[in-house]
Amino acid sequence: MQKLMPKRVEKTYLGSMTKCNQFEFEYRQNHLFCEDCRVDEIIKKHGTPLYVYSRSNIVEQFKQMTRAFGTHTHVVCYSVKANSNGAILKTLVNLGAGMDVVSGGELRRALNVGCDPKKIVYSGVGKTANEIRFAIQTGILQINCESEQELSTIQNIASSLNIKAPVALRVNPDIDPKTHPYISTGLKENKFGISHLKAVSVYKSALSMSHIEITGISCHIGSQILECEPFRNAMIKLKDIINQLAAINIPVKNVDVGGGLGIIYNNENPLTATDYARAITEPLTGLDCTILLEPGRFIVGNAGILVTKVIYVKEGDHKEHFTIVDAAFNDLKRPMLYGAYHEIIPVMVSPEKKTITTNIEGPICETTDRFARHREMQPTEPGEYLAIMSTGAYGMSMACTYNSRGRPAEVLVKGDQFFLVRKADSIEDITHNEIMPGFLT
Ligand SMILES: *Cc1c(COP(=O)(O)O)cnc(C)c1O
Repeated sequence: MQKLMPKRVEKTYLGSMTKCNQFEFEYRQNHLFCEDCRVDEIIKKHGTPLYVYSRSNIVEQFKQMTRAFGTHTHVVCYSVKANSNGAILKTLVNLGAGMDVVSGGELRRALNVGCDPKKIVYSGVGKTANEIRFAIQTGILQINCESEQELSTIQNIASSLNIKAPVALRVNPDIDPKTHPYISTGLKENKFGISHLKAVSVYKSALSMSHIEITGISCHIGSQILECEPFRNAMIKLKDIINQLAAINIPVKNVDVGGGLGIIYNNENPLTATDYARAITEPLTGLDCTILLEPGRFIVGNAGILVTKVIYVKEGDHKEHFTIVDAAFNDLKRPMLYGAYHEIIPVMVSPEKKTITTNIEGPICETTDRFARHREMQPTEPGEYLAIMSTGAYGMSMACTYNSRGRPAEVLVKGDQFFLVRKADSIEDITHNEIMPGFLT
C-alpha cells in the first residue's frame, strides 16, 4: 500500500483512476464516488454484483471523438456490442450518434432508442437472409458486406423487395493491429471481410448488380489498438483501393474506418482521439468522403465499473491468499476470455491497512473464474466491496447465465442522481423459455 498509495487518497487509489481516464470516479474521504454519488449508497439500494456507469464520462468520450474529427464530414456510429444497454444507447443518440450493429437484435435496439436509420451501419460475417431483409426495409445507411456470397444474397433480397440496397464492402487489409490475437480482425487468417487483393474485382461485380448501390468501403482491423501505425496502414490500403475504383468510375462516398481505438486498463499509453483522427485522416487527404467511425470501447470502456461484494477470504497452501467475491465470469468475461487486466480497488479505503497479495476469485465452478492473480491491495473482509474498473465495454454485453446466475443489474449515474437502467435477472428470467415435455410431467 505504502509504495502505491498516492498522497491524496481522495483523488486516486493506486493512481488507477486518473491512469484509467476514469475521471468520473474518485475517492472523497476514502469513499469511492461515481460523479457525485457514493458507490456504497448505490449498492445499498441495488445490491451486488452491479454495473455502475457514469453518464458524463460517456458524453465526454463521445464529444472527444467528434471534436477530433471536427472539420471532416463524419458520423460516429457507436458500436452497440460494446455496451448495448438502452439508456446508454439513448444517451448517445441524444448526442447525435449513429450506431454500428452486428445483428438483427442490435439493429432493433438501435431503432428502439430512436436512432436515425440513416446513421446505422451493419457489419458481420454471418448476416442471415432475415437480418438482411430487415436492414434493407429499415433503410439503414449501409450494409458492410463481408463476402461474395453475402453480396449475392443482398442482391437477391433487395431485388425481391424492389429496393436498392446501400452496400459497402468490408475489406480485410491484412494489417497486424498488434493487439491481443483474439481481438485482431484484419489479418488475412481472420474470417472478416473480403481480401484487399480481391476487393476491386468484387466491387466490379457489385456494380453489375441491379439492386446494389455502392455507397462506400469499410474495414475494422481489431480492438484495443494502442498505436497509430496499424490505423494509418489500413487507411493507406483503403485509399489505394479507392483510387483503383475511381479509375473505373466507381465512386466511394463513405469510408468506414471501423473501431478499435484502445483505452487504459493498466499502464497502456493509448492514442488520444486527436492522434487517432490524424492517423485516419492524413492518408485520406484529397478524398471527398464521409468518414464513418465505429468506436465502442473508447466511448464506454472507462465509464463503467463492476461492483462486487467480498464473500469469503481464505488462505491455501504456500500462503496463497484468496478473496472470493460475488461477481463471476458470467458477469464479466474479459479476464477469463482474454486474460484481460482490470484494476480492482476497494469501495472504501482504509489508509491504515498494509497491503497483501491476493487472488480475486469468483464463485463459479471453473478454475478460470478469476478476476486477478497475485494482486497487491488492501485486505478486505467479508461484506466489504470492491470495484472492478474499466468494465463499461464488453462487460455486461458479454454477460451470460452460466451456473444459473442471473446477469447483474445496471445503474446509470448522472451527477448526484443514479438510475436503475436494468434489473438483475431473476431465476424466472433465466428459466422462462424452457419447456417441460409432456412425458415428463
Ligand atoms: C467490435 C467492432 C467495433 C468496435 O470495436 P472497439 O474496439 O470496441 O472500438 C467496430 N466495428 C466492428 C465491425 C466491430 O466488430
